[in-house]
Amino acid sequence: MNKQIAIIGAGFSGAVIAHQLAKAGYQVEVFESRSHVAGNCHSQRDEETNVMVHVYGPHIFHTDNERVWQFINGFGEFKPFTNRVKAITNNRVFTLPINLLTINQFFGKTFRPAEAQQFLASLGDKTIENPVTFEDQALRFVGRELYEAFFKTYTVKQWGMQPSELPASILKRLPVRFNYDDNYFSHKYQGMPANGYTEIVEKMLAGDGITVHLNTAFDPAMKGDYAHVFYSGPIDKWFGHQEGHLPYRTLDFEVLREQGDYQGNAVINYCDNSQRYTRITEHKHFSPWEQHEGTVCYFEYSRQCEQDDTPYYPIRMARDKLQLEKYLNIAQNETNVTFVGRLGTYRYLDMDVTIDEALKAADKFLECASSKTPMPAFVVNPLG
Ligand code: UDP
Repeated sequence: MNKQIAIIGAGFSGAVIAHQLAKAGYQVEVFESRSHVAGNCHSQRDEETNVMVHVYGPHIFHTDNERVWQFINGFGEFKPFTNRVKAITNNRVFTLPINLLTINQFFGKTFRPAEAQQFLASLGDKTIENPVTFEDQALRFVGRELYEAFFKTYTVKQWGMQPSELPASILKRLPVRFNYDDNYFSHKYQGMPANGYTEIVEKMLAGDGITVHLNTAFDPAMKGDYAHVFYSGPIDKWFGHQEGHLPYRTLDFEVLREQGDYQGNAVINYCDNSQRYTRITEHKHFSPWEQHEGTVCYFEYSRQCEQDDTPYYPIRMARDKLQLEKYLNIAQNETNVTFVGRLGTYRYLDMDVTIDEALKAADKFLECASSKTPMPAFVVNPLG
């Protein structure tokens, strides 16, 4: 039997699947169109300052998933890191996600948890029973003042549209806390790879049985040369955009290098219109165990993704989902190809979910191979 597998894309999806299948005895060829592995998680040391830079913007690893945490720790050391985001709005600095300190400082109060909870409930719009949009979700749970200070303008800058047009699921990523916990994430495990994400992905791809082709695009016409293809590129690209381009947001980074400490924190969000950028990331604060005299900051700007830009965030408005559905229907008829990851399934995915789904895709492939059943085009439902 021809055991050669092609994997398109050397981000987490592709690297995890390649690793698992090579471990099971398959020969795997990985095709990566960029000059490096690790996709948008790619990190590298800045030549001038030696700071480890998240080249495509900040990536903080966090998960509740034991299997994923054990798996990723097998490829390099993770150092403890807790993301504590600050937010600037109306010339004042607050802590995010919204927590007791944010509420007390914003309203000039000294509430205890139950009081703050009651207060916020009184601000929330209770006529909104089932929030569908981002705006409804915010108005229902935090009220207009906090919504306008922290979410409305940031979201317009980030997504290029009104929160009343966006799904509630985007805001549901952020908790509201009635204690002083200002950890941006609620997961059990959180950390930063001591030597960056790229080294982790390189180790995943270093095993016997894996060949990586950098700077190499894969033409879908080559599919017949392989027993199976795992595709983590944009799903619409695989089909030559025959149903149109699925829309994404892309990011531009204005880079500042200087001496010392620019902002005293890894991430500061700019939630009002005082700046056009959404946030500033000061990369050396992601590695607090290192000492650097110089510093590198990324001023982050979001805009519509054009043809030659790097896609970041799938937009997934109702009309985009209709377009996605068309691609899913065509994809169901495709044989020996499985679509995986953020771009392959057109979903807003965190790293841990991407890894979990890639592990499951590899499990499913091995199961199908042993039961001689066809491998499906999707291991998760992209519309789910
Ligand atoms: N958001 C906001 N204000 C903030 C931070 C986030 O309005 O200060 C909204 C915004 O719409 C953003 C979403 O919440 O896209 C999710 O935020 P998260 O920090 O998870 O975004 P990511 O780090 O993935 O870009």
